[in-house]
Amino acid sequence: MQRVTLDDKTFEVSIPNAEILAAIDALAARINADYRDRGGVPLFLGVLNGAFMFISELLQKINFPCEVSFVKLSSYHGTSSTGTVTELIGLKDNIKGRHVIIVEDIVDTGESVAHLMNSLTGHQPASIEIATMLFKPGSYRKDFNIKYPAMEIPNDFIVGFGLDYDQLGRNLRDIYKIVDE
Ligand code: 5GP
Ligand code: MG
Repeated sequence: MQRVTLDDKTFEVSIPNAEILAAIDALAARINADYRDRGGVPLFLGVLNGAFMFISELLQKINFPCEVSFVKLSSYHGTSSTGTVTELIGLKDNIKGRHVIIVEDIVDTGESVAHLMNSLTGHQPASIEIATMLFKPGSYRKDFNIKYPAMEIPNDFIVGFGLDYDQLGRNLRDIYKIVDE
């Protein structure tokens, strides 16, 4: 199994690049089918930093007129969630009456996504759905429906394809999981 070391931790390949791309392809097909006849110009709202690779792959496969924008949140330090979500770059777009699709790298406890949902609903969008590259159903604690997960995974800490361990590993083309030693 291919391994990488980032700072003090070792990781092994868990989801190869081809599998990630196939899952994103399948998710894009679902979103295309659901939004084709909805009208308006939906806004894909990427959550930085982790979602940058996922949103760039996903958007290339979207076949209806759309816009893309970003917000920046932070809640993780090292390998565990701090539980407090900090908004580093807030919403700059007018979303009133528009269809919004939040694009996350991973939904774990759901704290980040709940924070975003609560702040966005106040701006009266026509609809909001959540697309996430990875979903950990085993640690999810919120009630918002995660309508568009590309892949579901167990509760391991993972890196790669945008996801980091203390800012390292975002550039990896495969997804790696931490090796218990
Ligand atoms: P939540 O608020 O759902 O607990 O976690 C959301 C954020 O924590 C994600 O957007 C991501 O940035 C980070 N996160 C959650 N699980 C993991 C993981 O396994 N690996 C990495 N690198 N980040 C994670
Ligand atoms: Mg994130």
